[in-house]
Amino acid sequence: MPNPFQASGSWLRGNLHTHTTNSDGPLGPQETVDTYAALGYDFLALTDHDRFTVPDDLHQHDLTLLPAVELARAGDGPSVHVHVVALGIEEVPQTDAEATWEAAIADYAAQAEVCFIAHPFWSLLEGSRLLSLEGVAGLEVYNRTCEGQSGRGTSESQWDELLRQDRPCWGFAVDDCHQLLDHGYGWISVRSEERSVEALLAAVECGSFYASTGPELRDLRLTDDGVRVESSPCVQAALLGARPGAGRTTWYREDLTRPFEEVTLPIPTREAWLRVEVIDERGRKAWSNPFRLEELEAQ
Ligand SMILES: [Zn+2]
Ligand SMILES: [Zn+2]
Repeated sequence: MPNPFQASGSWLRGNLHTHTTNSDGPLGPQETVDTYAALGYDFLALTDHDRFTVPDDLHQHDLTLLPAVELARAGDGPSVHVHVVALGIEEVPQTDAEATWEAAIADYAAQAEVCFIAHPFWSLLEGSRLLSLEGVAGLEVYNRTCEGQSGRGTSESQWDELLRQDRPCWGFAVDDCHQLLDHGYGWISVRSEERSVEALLAAVECGSFYASTGPELRDLRLTDDGVRVESSPCVQAALLGARPGAGRTTWYREDLTRPFEEVTLPIPTREAWLRVEVIDERGRKAWSNPFRLEELEAQ
């Protein structure tokens, strides 16, 4: 992946999973766009359930609206019900009703520019069930509505399960928006040269972003002592490797004055995907996308 912290361009903030009254969201499409424009967002995807909400019908302010839809597919048993967010799609894709859920999702992914799994923890989907999915770029590591409704908003375990199996996978934070109190709590910050739909989708597809519910990630860099992380003021940081027990945190570090804006974490493993998390004083979190050490070494 291109390291977004070393890439040219600027940081653009947006939410890629949002319902309106065209499905089961709390605000009409225009009110939803107005709300995110007032929050200072740069881009937004309206993802009504199995219904395409047309961006061109709306006053977009300075937001870039990405054409999108959320698709649901029942699985092979009562416990499997898979939702995916499909971006860069201008109609609801049709699939074979007799196809397996894995084949249907691969079909959705093939018809979208970017496709990711929504709320795996809420769906109680094990990461191992997602391994075979073709064309899927990532999963939601955080979903505000799922956290608010059922306490199942964070899907780090499913994410690491995929990374442990060497399956590259980006992590998205989103609002989803089924309640009035859901707007503006989970987003991604994308490093992009431009605000166009095409540039944003290309940057998202290649993982040039990080996810957050509050903190800003400012830099990730390899030094002689480990991975140096710069962020907005945080009280904890972690460098996690996709191997059992492979992780380093600042939890026991007495040399740090908290909150800190810069910290170097020793490398827990050289063989697997690594990712960084930081937590601020309010318990809000940011997640880098996974990277290989050699990708940082090359920069
Ligand atoms: Zn959903
Ligand atoms: Zn949704």
